[in-house]
Amino acid sequence: MSTAAEAAPRWTLVIHGGAGVIERERLTKEDDAAIRAALARALDAGSAVLAMDGAAVDAVEAAVKVLEDDPHFNAGRGAVFTYEGANELDAAIMDGRDRSAGAVAGVTRTRHPVSLARAVKDASPHVLLMGKGADTFSAEQGLEQVDPSWFATPERRRQLEEFKARKTGGWFDVDMKYGTVGAVARDAAGHVAAATSTGGITGKRWGRVGDSPLIGAGTYADDRACAVSATGSGEFYIREGVAHEICARVRFAGEPLQQAAERVMAEVKALGGSGGVIVTGPNGEAVWTFNTSGMYRGSVVAGGDRKVAIYGDE
Ligand code: ASP
Repeated sequence: MSTAAEAAPRWTLVIHGGAGVIERERLTKEDDAAIRAALARALDAGSAVLAMDGAAVDAVEAAVKVLEDDPHFNAGRGAVFTYEGANELDAAIMDGRDRSAGAVAGVTRTRHPVSLARAVKDASPHVLLMGKGADTFSAEQGLEQVDPSWFATPERRRQLEEFKARKTGGWFDVDMKYGTVGAVARDAAGHVAAATSTGGITGKRWGRVGDSPLIGAGTYADDRACAVSATGSGEFYIREGVAHEICARVRFAGEPLQQAAERVMAEVKALGGSGGVIVTGPNGEAVWTFNTSGMYRGSVVAGGDRKVAIYGDE
């Protein structure tokens, strides 16, 4: 008789590059191809770790770093602008083995915010550092520092101008030009991890922080349940406690990952929020669900399926 563990793939990696109004008519052929190529590179980077029997937490960091460097995504280089015209970055990482976690909010000088979140987890007694203090910690830890202009791209500046010009005003980027990135993995030893990195939302003000760096909202990993990275309208994810809520359904109600993810996303929708999540668990299932027209996403399992997709119908 085969057990679930025996049936599980040796390792699994699932990534996302943000959810939102992502439709064929809105993406040029070149962008479509470049985004797919970047997702594939991120899968390669995470897979390389997992194939060498590396830890899930190392794999999710490696995958997210690739996407942070790619200007197509709203994380690291290519992050959206604040109302004042700056790039303030949020990131989190969590290891399901011991539920150790690190996160940063509103950082401005670290090339790879996910690695700064990792340093918070590994080299500080804290879970979440913000703003100037987090920037200082980053330099002290010897992480790669960049001039804040490194993160800025003309397209994101144009999106800020468009946001400001919109007569209707409004708090959010209604087109949801998100592009937050994240990864979840299950390694050969059966452990899970999650990481998320973002610039937040276009035109954010007053030190706004979304769900991505909040452990339990946009990011969570627990070997007893699953690992989750979220993307979407962060305020609703915070109110729902999305990532932890999915893990709680799995752990306490014994729900399959797909069902837990869909039920929690239905609750987010009922609150008025939209977006998606990626999930994997100790048995290595690769799960995603989203209630937007598209989500940049990809998955790969050891010796098996590899998928990269953008639109809802693929
Ligand atoms: N959830 C992110 C935030 O609210 C944005 C996104 O996922 O695109 O900051």
